[in-house]
Amino acid sequence: MNFEMLARQHDATDPLASFAQEFHHPQDASGQKLTYLCGHSLGLQAKSVAEYVEQELADWRRLGVLGHHSGTRPWIHYHELAASGLAELVGASATEVVAMNSLTVNLHLMMVSFFRPNGARNSVLIEKSAFPSDRYAIVSQLEFHGLSAAKHLVEVAPRPGEHLLRTSDLVESIEREAPRLGLVLLPGIQYLTGQFLELAPIIATARRNGVTVGIDLAHSIGNNLLQLHDWNADFAVWCHYKYLNAGPGAIGGCFVHQRHTGQNTLPRFSGWWGNELETRFRMAPEFNPAPGADGWQLSNPPILSTAPLLASLGLFQRAGVSRLREKSIALTGYLEFLIQELMPESVEIITPIEPEQRGCQLSLRLKRNSVDASLCQQRLIANGVIGDWREPNILRLAPTPLYNSFSDVWKTATVLAQALQA
Ligand SMILES: *Cc1c(COP(=O)(O)O)cnc(C)c1O
Repeated sequence: MNFEMLARQHDATDPLASFAQEFHHPQDASGQKLTYLCGHSLGLQAKSVAEYVEQELADWRRLGVLGHHSGTRPWIHYHELAASGLAELVGASATEVVAMNSLTVNLHLMMVSFFRPNGARNSVLIEKSAFPSDRYAIVSQLEFHGLSAAKHLVEVAPRPGEHLLRTSDLVESIEREAPRLGLVLLPGIQYLTGQFLELAPIIATARRNGVTVGIDLAHSIGNNLLQLHDWNADFAVWCHYKYLNAGPGAIGGCFVHQRHTGQNTLPRFSGWWGNELETRFRMAPEFNPAPGADGWQLSNPPILSTAPLLASLGLFQRAGVSRLREKSIALTGYLEFLIQELMPESVEIITPIEPEQRGCQLSLRLKRNSVDASLCQQRLIANGVIGDWREPNILRLAPTPLYNSFSDVWKTATVLAQALQA
């Protein structure tokens, strides 16, 4: 069988194929389109982003401060425009989500409210090899409370010789450690292995044992189908520059479950944008939180870094999350198939094989008989393919359903097969 023909056939029948043309694709020095499989790190720019940003620049030029009320999209309400799209992506109601700050800042704000070391319940459970920023944030919160990582950080690792976390091990660890846990913080997708954790049973276990649970969706939002509300997570945080394509340093996002947003009993760090709208501009000395996740906002939002998010959410809405997921499963399945056909000797796919336990990313561990990952990465770039690599010897490739094609995957696999030759 001709695998390239297969790719063309898939592209010809792909209902989402035209979305690729709605993005700017990076090019090499001679103007050739690069094959971009790096949406797990920084998503591409949609062509509509320029209009959205230019609209705000124009309103600012034309209206100055009056843009807060009289702009095309009045800035007073600007963050609200993201809520329904985000709610759909994470499986929540619009009042449970808010676009604000950036991921690590939101994680700190959430821990202020949700990690309240109390008697014996003063430890945090995370996965071993968690994303460094999350670990730094958690350790600094522990130290802020006079606690230490050595005593109060519980890290669950894969079993010796394994790469992935077993759900049963996570569930058992949470049950065993519960009497001393104040918080469980786990990713949707583990950034290094691409494993999508089975969040429903994990969250249920934490809740059943009276432990607060937060989820980091940095690599999951816009990638997996999520049901944060029904799964009953207490909170979640994420960024929008990966699969949400909102641009470098874009505004981040946050979820607070409805059961916490009705009453005003949780302590929080407050700012004026978290005050309810009716009284915000009375400049009263008392803080009255806005209902829902909005009440955790601090500052008026950065309009220019939120505009690309609105452009992007429009594309997700038009493409439809379930159609995107369907294509994603096929696209990543095709990459997996080609890797196993063309280079079984030189790479091991460490990402789970089951589609429901991964998103679009595949993490490849280069075997000892092939080149090392950084050299492989250099060769990929020299041949027009953008992925990335992480210590130790792991190459990450993420075909995204919004702007990648089956032909992109074919190109990547053939370039990779060559790059791996010693
Ligand atoms: C990308 C990523 C971050 C980045 O944090 P910022 O505050 O947006 O710089 C943090 N945590 C995880 C798990 C990530 O994947």
